[in-house]
Amino acid sequence: MYELLAEPRREVAVSIPLRRDNGEVEVLRGFRVQHNLSRGPTKGGLRFSPDVSIDEVRALAMWMTWKCALLDVPYGGAKGGVRVDPRKYSTAELERITRRYTSELAHVLGPESDIPAPDVGTDQQTMAWMMDTYSVNRGRTTLGVVTGKPIALGGSVGRADATSRGVVHVALEALKVRGISTHQATAAVQGFGKVGRGAARFLSEASVQVVAVSDQYGAIYAPHGLDVPGLEAHVDRTGSVVGFAGSEPIAAKEDLLLLDVDLLIPAAVEGVITAANAGDVQARIIVEGANGPTTTEADVILNNRGCLVVPDILANAGGVVVSYFEWVQANQSYWWSARDVAERLESRMLAAWTRVYDHAESRNLTLRSAATSLAVQVVADAHRQRGLYP
Ligand code: NAD
Repeated sequence: MYELLAEPRREVAVSIPLRRDNGEVEVLRGFRVQHNLSRGPTKGGLRFSPDVSIDEVRALAMWMTWKCALLDVPYGGAKGGVRVDPRKYSTAELERITRRYTSELAHVLGPESDIPAPDVGTDQQTMAWMMDTYSVNRGRTTLGVVTGKPIALGGSVGRADATSRGVVHVALEALKVRGISTHQATAAVQGFGKVGRGAARFLSEASVQVVAVSDQYGAIYAPHGLDVPGLEAHVDRTGSVVGFAGSEPIAAKEDLLLLDVDLLIPAAVEGVITAANAGDVQARIIVEGANGPTTTEADVILNNRGCLVVPDILANAGGVVVSYFEWVQANQSYWWSARDVAERLESRMLAAWTRVYDHAESRNLTLRSAATSLAVQVVADAHRQRGLYP
């Protein structure tokens, strides 16, 4: 079973010839990995980043398998990537890249086979191009082939901030089990993008004091709490959290991770809490908004220090839960209200939190081991019950 689950079921690598706006042609590399097909179609984001590699896509695809299993979403995991820095390409070039990538992979995509979603460097416009390309080639509009679409094209209300909402649902539960009241709690959030920004907003709406945030340009600190709506307006105006009135800069932005706060939410990139800095992390609770922000060595150090780490496959699963809701709505052409989406998301996140927390308590495991073992068990059971063909 270990060997079966350790290997992705399918890996596709494609080359993407791109005509640049100046007439030159360059060839990009793209990947799609489908890690597990035992519980339903595969699901996972598409990433545009200069660092994309087959190994990274493989790891992210496997994470998606566990995330879906843990949240009781009937999918296996997948992930896609194109090795490209989207900031260096025009909108028209990004559209051509997306459409060619989709065409090259059309034979493995589909609402019943593999359903992409946005990830780092892609957004709802990317998903609209993918849906259109797939649909035109099939001769019929197929809304369920991607999630994270614009609302006008069958996107779900509540998808855009679903990951952040989920992060905050479990963060508030973690505060409860550690006996910290929300009114006294302080938080630091690394990353102010799709996940971090919403997490900061929902935390402050829940009366948690967000004392520090960062982005790729720098970090800011306000000991008595940042005015998050004001900060969002500042970011919309200037493109960064840096220079927000009423805050002081943190000289090295990574030092945000070491602040004396109750809650630390890494919501930027992977591998930021490492063996080198984990010993200096003072936060009582870490809720992993990003995928893989804590290295394996750092995880051991944090646990030895008594820090409660809520693992990524639980903490940031709100996005895939509402992606699932979007797919269900698209397949039925029946759209839910914002309240329906929010309530069903909350109930799934809290149910998963309770399953993981109870399993960890009863077996004396970390939340990461508990979450992973529960998820692996679900997938292993599906394999056993289906049997081995032929
Ligand atoms: P994003 O591109 O919208 O935002 C990333 C943010 O991190 C930006 O504010 C960027 O400036 C900042 N950043 C980058 N490098 C940084 C650094 N060194 N220090 C501080 N800030 C830095 O991406 P996102 O969608 O918010 O994704 C963030 C993480 O969450 C990724 O690991 C992603 O895989 C994961 N995730 C996202 C979703 C989702 O629904 N978007 C769901 C699950 C997991």
